[in-house]
Amino acid sequence: MDVNAACYNHPDRPATNGCWRCQQFICNDCSTTLFGKTYCKKCAGEVSKISHNPDKSNLLQREINSRPLMVAIIIITILIAAVEIYIMTR
Ligand SMILES: [Zn+2]
Ligand SMILES: [Zn+2]
Repeated sequence: MDVNAACYNHPDRPATNGCWRCQQFICNDCSTTLFGKTYCKKCAGEVSKISHNPDKSNLLQREINSRPLMVAIIIITILIAAVEIYIMTR
């Protein structure tokens, strides 16, 4: 870490930590440890909010997981259409 970095919230204080989520430099007073990782106050609030609402994070995870499948279906559909057009125009 850059030793000259100052805290994001306190420009007069040297940063002792970096937020794991937003990579912001933070001093000891501003850092919060959650699940073994250091976060700034803002991210700690959001991380704990997500973990207190497992349904919402599961839904988000499912949405991310289903995306490559959606892309694959679209590509296959386009390929089938392209082959059909190629056969018809031959
Ligand atoms: Zn943060
Ligand atoms: Zn600070």
